Amino acid sequence: MPRHPAMYYEKMDEGRVRCVLCPHHCRLQEGAVGLCGVRLNLDGELYTENYEEIASLALDPIEKKPLYHFYPGSAILSLGTFGCNLFCPFCQNYALAHAGRSVSGQGISEAGSELSPGQIIPHPGSYARSSQWLEAMALQAVADGSVGVAFTYNEPGMWYEYVAECAAILQEHGQKVVLVTNGYIEQEPLRKLLPLVDAMNIDVKAFTPEFYRKLCRGKLEEVLKTVEMAAAACHVEITTLIIPGGNDDPGEIDNLGRWLAGIDSHIPLHLSRYHPAFTFTRGATPLHTMEISYQIAREYLDFVYLGNLGETNLTPCLNCGEVLIQRDVYQTRLVNLADHKCNSCGKPVDYIIY
Ligand code: SF4
Ligand code: SF4
Repeated sequence: MPRHPAMYYEKMDEGRVRCVLCPHHCRLQEGAVGLCGVRLNLDGELYTENYEEIASLALDPIEKKPLYHFYPGSAILSLGTFGCNLFCPFCQNYALAHAGRSVSGQGISEAGSELSPGQIIPHPGSYARSSQWLEAMALQAVADGSVGVAFTYNEPGMWYEYVAECAAILQEHGQKVVLVTNGYIEQEPLRKLLPLVDAMNIDVKAFTPEFYRKLCRGKLEEVLKTVEMAAAACHVEITTLIIPGGNDDPGEIDNLGRWLAGIDSHIPLHLSRYHPAFTFTRGATPLHTMEISYQIAREYLDFVYLGNLGETNLTPCLNCGEVLIQRDVYQTRLVNLADHKCNSCGKPVDYIIY
């Protein structure tokens, strides 16, 4: 059973608890579940309902996270569970995020099942804890070129306790820990987790509070705080899904680019093309909107990449402009990069980690 004592909550009167893992601060009566659907008040104590419950697992190109400046060309063992604390109507992963255990997941797992280690890999042996299985799985994946483990597919904060426990084990074994996250987490749990994290891709879904409030039931400023804290602690890349009529106003892209450059102009920004998903039926983002958004963001940022376009994305040397990394969708080649220097001009390249 994946139920496990939760961290980050406060006891209230009459058996109620307040969860302070994320900015929603759900107040839960006895027997109630939080907005995320995975944290439960049982007898006045908070429990997580998805501890160790792996709903999706795959060995992915790291570019798929997307991370373009972190071990380019490598693979990473990627896994996720159920639950999310935002409610985006354009979600491409709603099955895992909110539909819970009654719908199909993705990857190699059976939909909605609790996966014992033996169900996932053929020769897992017997592990007392799923985190021990993950440790073994991660070490095995190294042979296939994996650099570590990415917590992705759903919001990694939704199984915070499991992620933190696994991250500590992975770090001991020299494995990289990656979070692909919506950034909707309180500062204290984030502060505790960051020393165990090597890289994050954080969604900044829009740059207006209205978008977050009306569409995702969240607060923009909380996500921006996460980006600032993460950028001071680990490698960070940002993804923004450009939605026509939603967040594609040139002034909004301008504000996003300027704000991000104020943290660090080397932070890669992935502008991803929207396609209809979940309850959103409006048409896909026009190509010229993607191009305009790219041009605006590039005024501030050194690295802007277009996603969901069947794209070729190049990373140039910031000094001489020679191509350092060439990507054709998920085929990645380091063409002018060796010993952390540009082969062409010889300048150090400290903005790509490998
Ligand atoms: S993590 Fe879940 S239960 Fe806790 S505050 Fe956020 S939405 Fe509510
Ligand atoms: S934050 Fe991500 S997983 Fe959660 S609802 Fe929004 S798009 Fe879906």
